[in-house]
Amino acid sequence: MDFTVSEKMQTILEMIKEFVDKELYPLEPEFLRKNFSELEPVLEEKRRMVRQMELWAPLHPKEYGGMGLSLTEYALVAEALGGSPLGLYVFGCQAPDAGNIEILHKYGTEEQKEKYLRPLIDGIIRSCFSMTEVELPGSNPTWLATNAVKDGDDYVINGHKWYTSAADGAAFAIVMAETNPEASQHLRASMIIVPLGTPGFNVVRNISVMGHVGDSWHSHAEILYQNCRVSQTNLLGPEGQGFVLAQERLGPGRIHHCMRWIGICNRCFDLMCSYAVKRPIAPGVKMAESPLIKGYIADSAAEILAARLMVLHTAWTIENHGVKAAMKDISLIKFFAADVLQKVVDRALQIHGGLGMTDDTPISYFYRAERAARIYDGVDEVHKISVARRILRRYEGKKA
Ligand SMILES: Cc1cc2nc3c(=O)[nH]c(=O)nc-3n(C[C@H](O)[C@H](O)[C@H](O)COP(=O)(O)OP(=O)(O)OC[C@H]3O[C@@H](n4cnc5c(N)ncnc54)[C@H](O)[C@@H]3O)c2cc1C
Repeated sequence: MDFTVSEKMQTILEMIKEFVDKELYPLEPEFLRKNFSELEPVLEEKRRMVRQMELWAPLHPKEYGGMGLSLTEYALVAEALGGSPLGLYVFGCQAPDAGNIEILHKYGTEEQKEKYLRPLIDGIIRSCFSMTEVELPGSNPTWLATNAVKDGDDYVINGHKWYTSAADGAAFAIVMAETNPEASQHLRASMIIVPLGTPGFNVVRNISVMGHVGDSWHSHAEILYQNCRVSQTNLLGPEGQGFVLAQERLGPGRIHHCMRWIGICNRCFDLMCSYAVKRPIAPGVKMAESPLIKGYIADSAAEILAARLMVLHTAWTIENHGVKAAMKDISLIKFFAADVLQKVVDRALQIHGGLGMTDDTPISYFYRAERAARIYDGVDEVHKISVARRILRRYEGKKA
């Protein structure tokens, strides 16, 4: 694998870093204190600046107005953007839209692409992904209680979901529902597009997560589907292939999160080093002189580098050999990078002492918000089991 960064990418990265530094970091205190919707007008203005710089939608296809970067190129961009909680949103490559865009691009009909994909990439509308259920384990997505039953030309959907992130203000949801209950476990569910506002799509609440109810893009909804009727033309991809599509959606989606987390690690690492060299722990003695603090810094540097190289390697493997060939690597980095993220954020907070607990730095936000990294897009345990199973197969003489 070649780690050379092209001149074009170096220029792009410098532009992004400068923009994040000048335009986004100063917005963070407001982001931490206000509702997201209150910040939207100013974020819209920043998005306009990004479009003018021709850096909009770096990951998404050129034919739809994106930059069409490769996955390894995007890894560097997501890292540069990830240091600010606003970075990916302002550049039009935020979750859950990014994953939905990939699925729509690959499996959408021409009509679905015009109606949903194009405005989504343009940033005119937002979307959400509605798979996890209240009553059943989200870590086993082949087991769903939500069903979609055919009635005339329609599907009628019933079910109880939660953690449908960013549903508040979204234009449509991609819902996972069982359409083929008699089929084998992996072929029972389908993805169906449900425009918000369809009767029977009932938002129960935005869930309070770690003390934060949130709104707009920055929220997680609980939703009751009650005889929610949509046309069968809203089926996304083949019927019964929902789980297969979800794997495709979550594969690259997981690596996008890992790339962003490296950005958070870099930011926290910068903050911890800058603070350690200036904060006294005794008259004339700076915190950075303590061997314990040096240990935190050395461990963090090593772990961030390891996670970064693994992320780049996985992106390269997906790019050159496809998602299927990279499944083990995707699982490996998902739990490894999440663990590194949490250790680095925790050390940065510790080094800042009482200041780390305040919202005067973004560290406490990362500490709260990124605890979820070990849960969403596959809990640690499931990824570890999957990695070990793939490894052990080789020792048992089976195909890995
Ligand atoms: C911030 C956030 C955003 C999210 N966004 C979305 C979204 O946009 N759309 C969506 O559909 N979902 C979303 N989710 C939901 C997420 O995908 C689920 O929470 C996740 O899949 C785990 O499912 P669960 O919560 O039902 O936990 P469960 O499946 O009930 O698991 C609970 C715990 O049991 C243990 N466990 C589970 N399985 C195993 C196993 N096989 N072996 C050993 N231990 C195991 C683990 O410790 C696990 O943490 C989001 C979650 C969070 C926290």
